[in-house]
Amino acid sequence: TKTLSFEALSAETLPQRLGNTEPLASRIGADTSCWKVREVGDGNLNLVFIVEGAEGAAVVKQALPYVRLVGDSWPLPLKRSFFEYHALTRQKARAIPGKVVTGFPSGMAEKKTGAIVPEIYHFDEAQALIVMEYLSPHIILRKALIDGRQLPKIARDLGLFMARTLFRGSDLHMKARDRKEDLALFADNAELCDITENLVFTDPYFAAPMNRHTSPQLDGLVAELRADRDLKVEAQRLKHLFAANAETLLHGDLHTGSIMVTDGETRVIDPEFAVYGPIAFDVGMALANFWMSFFSQRGHENAGSRDAMRAYLLGVVAETWSVFRTEFAHLWRTERTGMLYHRSLFEEQGDTFGSEQALDRFLHSIWTDMLGFAGVEIHRRILGLAHNADFETIENEDLRAGCEAKALKFGRHLAVNRHTIHSLDEINALAELIE
Ligand code: ADP
Ligand code: MG
Ligand code: MG
Ligand code: MG
Repeated sequence: TKTLSFEALSAETLPQRLGNTEPLASRIGADTSCWKVREVGDGNLNLVFIVEGAEGAAVVKQALPYVRLVGDSWPLPLKRSFFEYHALTRQKARAIPGKVVTGFPSGMAEKKTGAIVPEIYHFDEAQALIVMEYLSPHIILRKALIDGRQLPKIARDLGLFMARTLFRGSDLHMKARDRKEDLALFADNAELCDITENLVFTDPYFAAPMNRHTSPQLDGLVAELRADRDLKVEAQRLKHLFAANAETLLHGDLHTGSIMVTDGETRVIDPEFAVYGPIAFDVGMALANFWMSFFSQRGHENAGSRDAMRAYLLGVVAETWSVFRTEFAHLWRTERTGMLYHRSLFEEQGDTFGSEQALDRFLHSIWTDMLGFAGVEIHRRILGLAHNADFETIENEDLRAGCEAKALKFGRHLAVNRHTIHSLDEINALAELIE
């Protein structure tokens, strides 16, 4: 019998509850008596089960009606699972390479891969659950970076993923009506959006109830940042941009804990925060997490120097941005089929430079905003509710606070001076100097 109203799964009840779910049973084997179920969720919000049967394995992710990290005192709509499912289907379609068009610079289009999302087997809206591909032997990128592993493909894969999903979800590419319908669909993800709005842009800059930081070591710096007028104004300008500039469908939570990797493959998971927002948001969040990894390396040097790892991470930042730009420009030239910067104004009048001028301006504003989003993302991971394992796993609190303080100062620089920063070389040099 099917449970119609929502009920949270457990490792014990899952085989009986999902045994008749054909897309799962047909993939892993119908004999539930040999299903092995483990709950592996390490995120802040949801349950994640790995289910292994006689013929295979799958992942079952289920939302809970509250924030897992905090408990049932903080209710959160089950509908986030619906948004995660719909974001995954859109990302799957959008993350693919474009056509190679002769006569245009080919960008990255001829290369087949790039990050993609896990395959979806089944979605049950009432139970707020998604059955999906079990990514194995993939591990969470954040964990790999903490362990000092250098993944060769992440920068390229992630740069391509962001350019493709963000460009193709915008009015640069979509039919105006399709985009508006999609915008309306995801506008209902308001509670998750509210979490981002408050946790990222506001809470870090005052004594919000759920904040925490390494104390007393950071108390002085925290007080300084809360009194920093320029920083608070900039953070609110960024919040306004996030809330009001519904430019494209964002992943919305694109940190290194939402990326699973092997040496050869990159997978992006967990888009439950998906909402229409500025292109620069996903890019800034992703780069911020590489910079935080950079500043956290000092705390993980017990087994040897992390000099090479630090150099690798700054290289990842530079390559991710460069691949993003190149692929975005390629899509601009080859897939600009939406209502913005229409070809009738430029190419179709024989003016090939007009749209290139517009592209320059467009990329420049992504750059400026990306830096700001990166800055506040760094702050909220050290001062707010949701911290990063990169710093959290540094047990010595003085050592941890030292790493965090450097990252905080770096983040402040990005957020406040973003309009006058000209290159990643300049920023990476600053990161090395601070380090
Ligand atoms: P949350 O929304 O609660 O953060 P995530 O989707 O990030 O949940 O998943 C939590 C953890 O479960 C991940 O960090 C990862 O270890 C594991 N996980 C999630 N999806 C998969 C998958 N498709 N394959 C393998 N492991 C997964
Ligand atoms: Mg997660
Ligand atoms: Mg303490
Ligand atoms: Mg999540």
